[in-house]
Amino acid sequence: MRNPHAGRPFSAADASDDAIARALEDVSIPTLLLSCVHMSGDARILDGPVRPQGLFLNEVQGFLSEEDKARARALALDVIRAWRDRGCPEPEPVGPDLLKRMMDWLVCESVPDEYVQMLLEEMELDGSDARAAAPVADRAAAGELPVVVIGCGMSGLLAAIRLQQAGFPYVVVEKNAGPGGTWWENRYPGARVDVGNHFYCYSFEPNDDWTEFFARQPELQAYFQRVMEGHGVAPNVRWNTEVVGATWDDATATWTVTLAGGGTLLARAVICAVGQLNRPFVPDVPGRFDGPSFHTARWDDSVDLAGRRVVMIGAGATGFQVAPAIADRVGQLSILQRSAQWMFPNPNYRASVGPGVPWALRHLPFYGRWYRFLLFWPSCDKGLAAAKVDPSWPGQARSVSEVNEFARAMFTEWITSQLGDRPDLVEQVLPDYPATGKRTLQDDGSWLSTLKRPNVELVRAGVSRLEADRVIDSNGVEHPADVLVWATGFRANELLLPMRIVGRDGVDLRKHWGTRPRAYLGMTVPGFPNFFLLYGPSTNLASGGSLIFHSECQVRYVMQCLQMLAARGAAAMEPRVDRYDDWYARTQAEMKTMVWASPHIEHSFYKNAEGEVNGLSPWRLVDFWSWTRTVDPGDYAWREGGVSPP
Ligand code: NAP
Repeated sequence: MRNPHAGRPFSAADASDDAIARALEDVSIPTLLLSCVHMSGDARILDGPVRPQGLFLNEVQGFLSEEDKARARALALDVIRAWRDRGCPEPEPVGPDLLKRMMDWLVCESVPDEYVQMLLEEMELDGSDARAAAPVADRAAAGELPVVVIGCGMSGLLAAIRLQQAGFPYVVVEKNAGPGGTWWENRYPGARVDVGNHFYCYSFEPNDDWTEFFARQPELQAYFQRVMEGHGVAPNVRWNTEVVGATWDDATATWTVTLAGGGTLLARAVICAVGQLNRPFVPDVPGRFDGPSFHTARWDDSVDLAGRRVVMIGAGATGFQVAPAIADRVGQLSILQRSAQWMFPNPNYRASVGPGVPWALRHLPFYGRWYRFLLFWPSCDKGLAAAKVDPSWPGQARSVSEVNEFARAMFTEWITSQLGDRPDLVEQVLPDYPATGKRTLQDDGSWLSTLKRPNVELVRAGVSRLEADRVIDSNGVEHPADVLVWATGFRANELLLPMRIVGRDGVDLRKHWGTRPRAYLGMTVPGFPNFFLLYGPSTNLASGGSLIFHSECQVRYVMQCLQMLAARGAAAMEPRVDRYDDWYARTQAEMKTMVWASPHIEHSFYKNAEGEVNGLSPWRLVDFWSWTRTVDPGDYAWREGGVSPP
């Protein structure tokens, strides 16, 4: 069977020289040249005069001059024509030495050995689904292991796909009417992903047809819907059904999952995939507003904003997307922003994908795979350097290290360069805390140009009171309003709220955690046998990568746990307390060396009431990948069989 990444042979419509030349106008030139190496088998292309000049997140042209791009296109046209005329044969596999050279060439640096295997796995150049779940050897044993997955967002859907592949009986319970989780719920105007979409998709389910480089919510939701249908998962999902809790019975080694409305499901294992950003947070503000008022994750489309006075409270990652999307139709937009945000330039943030890109993804051998790598690598662990605190660095309130100061300077320069004729805004939009200390945003200038509009005001204040037709900010200034939008984020520190998960000996998980949600490798908790968290404690990413990559690592690990349970005929597994405690101590110690825990950041959903950070991972992606590749049975306490299936 032809490798699915080896390029689909051309149809008559897209095989002409003109069609090829036209398509090449839209593509990433460095990526194109690597595809040419595959097509021609000629590695000397890497020694030619055209080579990428530098690396920056989402800069997919390698800072090439227009002249170099034109030269590369001419070379590629010859290579593609020759390949076409040979009938688009599947290229010969490339050996490891050349692959490494190609990696280094594309990103203008030597990719350290410890990363190479992870990246090759992510790229799946051999056409395999490298993280697929192996079918359970003993089908009868699998039958004794029914699994309930809570949530059909990005992680829960992934778990379902892998359970299906392995052959475990499973049910997914989803409170919404369709899949996507956050991409189902967050339908506010302007909602889009900020990880490049050709990377922000499952490694085994690339999509040639993204219409934007950073797709908007409807397209993302449609992607998850399509993937779900393609994998035959939908019949196993119970929609519009909310899980209120789950209780472990030790005698029968069974979880009883309780549904809102009273039904129950029995399972031997539970995969809890509700994520961290699931429950909207609306601060308790005194007073009452009489007009329409809603949280961004509960956007009310029936409210016509045209010509209305809108007050938006909060402007983090969400408000920052909402404002440019509604500013041209509202009468007046007042944005109450308590803390300014750091941001960096991304010219493609709202750009459409030209027709040559899907053409290249479909036809050019391994173009999509290398493009994925090009998006992944600059976001892979490099951001950690800027987030790491150098205790000897002076002026920690301003920056936490030399690299962090450099990031601050770069972000500041870009922000101020956008303000041009409005220097009065500089003081309002420049944050007063170290760069990358909170979620760093990226923009094409839309946010800052929105702030310059005559009908928009940025108010650097919190909110202190609501009145029937106005909001009083924390400086005592009144803002008349017809509509109130709460862009105030999520209850990220109250993980699993409002579910009640009761483990061995009647222990309530949220009580056990208190303000410190924690889990071994972010996934398992002693006393909660066969209970697995996805996107759980210490797995959120604040410095790059993609949560999909992280989830793929987690789901592979969880599947191995289930496979081990089945293979051993064991009733239950739970992490050893010493491993769990050690993991938490190490993770917290590491976290204290990161900017996110800086005492100079006053407000941040990354922190709990004590100022500790429990949701984020302080670890390199390559470490998490290697720690989760293979389950060490010695990390777990096992209870061998002897119970009937639930
Ligand atoms: P957020 O980052 O927590 O921002 C909430 C906003 O509300 C902040 O401006 C915050 O001010 C303000 N706020 C909170 N409580 C307040 C109070 N009592 N009084 C006044 N202001 C208050 O929430 P978010 O913007 O919804 O983003 C949450 C996360 O969702 C992001 O970090 C990201 O992970 C994800 N997200 C991703 C995307 C994307 O991929 N493009 C888009 C949107 C969201 P302070 O900053 O002062 O606390």
